[in-house]
Amino acid sequence: MPDHSTVAGVPVDTRHWIGGRRVASAATFTDHSPIDGRALAEIARGGQAEADAAVAAATAAFPAWAATPRTDRADLLHAIADGVEARLEELAAVETADNGALLRSHRRGVMPRVAHNFRFFADWLRTLGHPDFDTRGHRNRVSWDPAGPCVLITPWNAPLMLASWKLAPALAAGNTVVLKPAEWSPLTASLLADIAADAGLPPGVLNVVQGLGAEAGSALVAHPDVRRISFTGSVPTARRIAAAAADRLTPLSLELGGKSPLLVFADADLDLAVDLAVGQYDNAGQVCLAATRLLVESSVAEEFTRRFAERAAALVQGDPREEATDIGPTIHERQLEKIDGFVRRALDAGATAVLGGHRGDGQYYAPTLLTGVAQDSEIVQEEVFGPVLTLQTFTTEDEAVALANGTRFGLAATLATGDPERAERVTGRLSAGTVWVNCFFVRDLRAPFGGSRQSGVGREGGTWSFDFYCDVKNTVTAPKGWHDHG
Ligand code: ADP
Repeated sequence: MPDHSTVAGVPVDTRHWIGGRRVASAATFTDHSPIDGRALAEIARGGQAEADAAVAAATAAFPAWAATPRTDRADLLHAIADGVEARLEELAAVETADNGALLRSHRRGVMPRVAHNFRFFADWLRTLGHPDFDTRGHRNRVSWDPAGPCVLITPWNAPLMLASWKLAPALAAGNTVVLKPAEWSPLTASLLADIAADAGLPPGVLNVVQGLGAEAGSALVAHPDVRRISFTGSVPTARRIAAAAADRLTPLSLELGGKSPLLVFADADLDLAVDLAVGQYDNAGQVCLAATRLLVESSVAEEFTRRFAERAAALVQGDPREEATDIGPTIHERQLEKIDGFVRRALDAGATAVLGGHRGDGQYYAPTLLTGVAQDSEIVQEEVFGPVLTLQTFTTEDEAVALANGTRFGLAATLATGDPERAERVTGRLSAGTVWVNCFFVRDLRAPFGGSRQSGVGREGGTWSFDFYCDVKNTVTAPKGWHDHG
């Protein structure tokens, strides 16, 4: 098997990165492009042996990295960010070929954000602290000790973005890591290993194991020497990971799915509300935060639907490498079948497709809006992870809140309203990790991010990330000469 594949003109190493060396596996799996189904690369397919080797490398590298002064660790993360910026065009092109998300978003939004993630946590580390305080003259000092080797398992919808969001605080904190990227989008993690090595990150501090979830992933999360597991993905996989972690009570950070609502009140700026709603087709709906349930006050529902259909019809679906494209393909044929299954069952149950409701050519799914859906139906309760929105109406604020909270998820909620008091009232009653009022997707790494209920466990961002990736310690020191006063 060749060690490299050239994707979008960029050579990508198809092997693991373990202990500062490229390591092949006897077995491989084929990585396809969602754009045209073309095979992009034969990727090393890791299992127990590679998981063991990577955790051993991370364990061996841990003491020296943990002892590296904070400022030196921060400088290295900035050097990684420099490397990401220097190779931004390549990373963007490879990511688009691999997961089919828009090239323009990767170039202008996502990849700059990857660099920013490294810089942000490097800088946050410099100021991480808690003021000392006294207890009857005894000084309390809180410190954040690195925890040890961490396993990071990431999904395919925003591969490098989500990997960097976990890697940056984990590494900044003084931990070593093993990253297992999703098998549907394994390429940019390999490029990141090159960038980190070029930046001077010592061998074993970052390891990348490629492979399938049920093989490489499950071997990593069950490994006894792992001190933290951070996972972004689906609820069923999270349950498996939590079960594997239960044996040693390995702390988990879980960022899972959602079925988030967009509440549109009659007092809202309707054009803004429509913009927010149409924006939910971003990344072909493959966004955990997407507000896929449109909840619209009855008195404006007809007008809202008319304007929505008009705006959505103008969206351009096609090759994600083209500047004019708004909606790209679905990641994989299996995902496409899953989406289509959800929509067919909803239509069979009596839903109406105001828009779409069927597959497009190739690996594309037509942007879809379904009405006539019941709150307890599958299409309203389950995460579709495709360009499929439902619309329900309400007449009172109580009803709106009940519908919004009426799933097992609680990742985010968006409100469109012209009444600040209503916004505050409703926000207080919503079960959601993030609430956006008259806006969407405004995110700041200083803010906590995560889900309530089955949308996740824990929060990421700022000090919350360090709380997870560290063993937080409180040291209590007696005043001088305390024994004299006994
Ligand atoms: P999807 O979002 O496609 O439903 P998952 O939540 O299963 O996918 O996948 C997200 C990540 O979890 C991927 O990197 C995948 O390889 C990994 N994964 C899947 N199953 C397991 C498992 N049993 N243990 C550890 N990781 C897994």
